Amino acid sequence: MKTVDNRKIRKRMEKALDPKRFEHTLGVAYTAASLAMCYQENAQKALTAGLLHDCAKCMDNDKKLHICEKHNIPVSDIEKRNPYLLHAKVGSYIARKQFHINDKDILNAILYHTTGRPAMSCLEKIIFIADYIEPGRKHAPNLPLIRKLAFQDLDEALLQILKDTLIYLQDIDTPDPMTQQTYDYYVTYRNCTKREEE
Ligand code: FE
Ligand code: FE
Repeated sequence: MKTVDNRKIRKRMEKALDPKRFEHTLGVAYTAASLAMCYQENAQKALTAGLLHDCAKCMDNDKKLHICEKHNIPVSDIEKRNPYLLHAKVGSYIARKQFHINDKDILNAILYHTTGRPAMSCLEKIIFIADYIEPGRKHAPNLPLIRKLAFQDLDEALLQILKDTLIYLQDIDTPDPMTQQTYDYYVTYRNCTKREEE
């Protein structure tokens, strides 16, 4: 397997993204690497996934839709109405095709970074959480609590983020049902593990 050059990826991302998005990207990448160290995951992989997670964010909506159409990437009705949601799917595609990332875990971490999904891998959780807590974020509720939680209990941090996201999404169009599914899954999962401990 070819080794991934994170410095090269970083340089390409600096060109592809606007300065604010690039700053956010670096924040996510290094927060993800720190979380990986905390949970004995591969920090280089976390860095790669973090650097690439928003690689399609600054692309025109039309172009995102066009890429999906051309490469048979399914687009839901919600995504059709809010094409910015597609940056995760298109980003994962671009990571594979243009950055030659073959690691399924990294590709999935990019693919599910906005909604999460039931039974996420450790790296998927790390990218989802890093995206929410990176140092440049300011406005999300409960940030200090979630930032602390993230380095103590990945699943608890995940649940808190999903809960706050669902509350936030209530006021906006229809939320992606995957966010609700992920939340429900982790509530059940937590209750099951608690019962086992008793
Ligand atoms: Fe994103
Ligand atoms: Fe992001």
